[in-house]
Amino acid sequence: MEDIKMDIDIYGLEIFKLIEELYPICRSITGNGVRSTLEIIKKHIPITVHEVASGTQVLDWVIPEEWNVVDAFVKDEQGIKVIDFKKSNLHLLNYSSPIHKFLQLDELKEHLYFLPDHPEWIPYVTSYYQKNWGFCLSYDDYNKLTDGIYEVFIDTSFKAGNLTYGEFLIKGQSEKEVVISCYLCHPSLCNDSLTGVAIAAFLAKHLKSRKHYYSYRFLFIPETIGSITWLHFNEDKLGKIEHGLIATCLGDNGAMTYKKSRQGNAKIDKVVEKVLIDSGNPYNIIEFDPSDGSDDRQYCSTGFNLPFGTLMRTKYGCFPEYHTSADNLDFIKPDYLGQSLKYYIDILYYLEKDDKYLNIYPKGEPNMGKRNLYRSVNKSEVKNSQAVIFWVLNFSDGQHSLLDISYRSGFSFREICNGAKILCEAGLIQKIE
Ligand code: ZN
Repeated sequence: MEDIKMDIDIYGLEIFKLIEELYPICRSITGNGVRSTLEIIKKHIPITVHEVASGTQVLDWVIPEEWNVVDAFVKDEQGIKVIDFKKSNLHLLNYSSPIHKFLQLDELKEHLYFLPDHPEWIPYVTSYYQKNWGFCLSYDDYNKLTDGIYEVFIDTSFKAGNLTYGEFLIKGQSEKEVVISCYLCHPSLCNDSLTGVAIAAFLAKHLKSRKHYYSYRFLFIPETIGSITWLHFNEDKLGKIEHGLIATCLGDNGAMTYKKSRQGNAKIDKVVEKVLIDSGNPYNIIEFDPSDGSDDRQYCSTGFNLPFGTLMRTKYGCFPEYHTSADNLDFIKPDYLGQSLKYYIDILYYLEKDDKYLNIYPKGEPNMGKRNLYRSVNKSEVKNSQAVIFWVLNFSDGQHSLLDISYRSGFSFREICNGAKILCEAGLIQKIE
């Protein structure tokens, strides 16, 4: 894979446009919202859509009934809609049961969710595995409700249907795989969920016309039940997975955050850390934590222990807008999206280029002067490139990869790659296949 100069600004705007298109759709872990989301992604990459029937046993779980929404509202005695799903799909408790009833305010209040600390925001609440009905609203709107009778109408359906997910495999020279996983089960929320979906789609788009060593598998799945389903049906393929990343929360203004794999010292952990170091920008690295996470909890469960990390900006749960109506199109910016994509592209570039080399003249230093590799110019950049050459030459012992050398020397991975290229051309080292 060649190192490319990419126009981050243009990419950022295109990713933002895709998020704008996906944002209004009411999604959940099953249902038509997931299908229409995948249809839109199909305009960018030719994903395969899988449908897995309700009731199917997947690992220790069962695919739930498919949930779809027609409409939902609460009307006051004057017939005015005081809560209206059509204004924001976050108003409806996700996976809410259907109901049509007239209730006193007190009874209604037992089924309302709000955020006193952020009185203007609507919270995002789900009840996937426990049958319940409810509405979410801003605390300001909650306080406007006066005593009286309210008409509660939720037209949702639970039917034997399917769990839907998307998959896209881009074959490389090798069958060894890098998996990029994102979750598409959140309704109108941007940073959490949709930024990961859109960046994964653009990363796939970027890769599909390029030559690469690894095969790349992209998974567009509902969180938890989706990764469990995929793992259940693909256990025979897991041996091919060398590296995995979960993409989410990639559009806010925070510094990059990497949550390590359960293994903690997997190659993906080292590569992501080096990309972050080399970027020169602030970043955070956090350890794997099975009590707090996304699909890494499934990929990194004891029985699989796959090398999956999560690369995000501000971690889910750590920004106040998380799981509220304030995680909207204003909260994310094209610039941050473009930068986030660039980090992902760099990670893949490092993975692709991290080879081991063998020094052909390991006894003593080879004569650099006669090969025109020794320059006496006293400029710092020349001194640096000279130093890089000595580092690569010395550690091309078949044991250290270019990533190891870049860690040990403190030079960036790209500088080390460039040193290896010069030495290869001079016939002093050769790649170990
Ligand atoms: Zn979430």
